[in-house]
Amino acid sequence: MNDCIFCKIANGIIPSKKFYEDENMVIIADINPQATKHYLLIPKEHYANIIEMTDEQAIVLGKCLKKLSTLVDELGLQDGFRIVSNKGENGCQSVGHLHVHILGGEKLSDRMA
Ligand code: 5GP
Ligand code: ZN
Repeated sequence: MNDCIFCKIANGIIPSKKFYEDENMVIIADINPQATKHYLLIPKEHYANIIEMTDEQAIVLGKCLKKLSTLVDELGLQDGFRIVSNKGENGCQSVGHLHVHILGGEKLSDRMA
């Protein structure tokens, strides 16, 4: 997608500090952190949200999430974290390229919203 900010970040057209990158995804810091540690896991392939992904994209997303098990130390998430993927208006999704928020680095609220 030509005008998608996360396509540009994930594919290096807009430079950013990448905490992790492989052929499927990047992990960057959220520009407006909602927790001490707030990362965005962004698949390199553009699709809007979790409802619109194909079976193949779901497999890739599963691999991306599995990769977190090897990254908790360097991301400072040893004591736990929360993952969230907002979808649509009620979910307050503001960027239409699927991404997974990873929140941690502190004790989070026991309320989800
Ligand atoms: P959403 O609201 O769609 O679930 O999440 C979008 C997230 O992307 C927001 O938390 C917002 O702060 C973050 N964000 C938007 N634009 C940029 C950007 O250019 N760079 C980074 N690092 N984060 C961004
Ligand atoms: Zn995109």
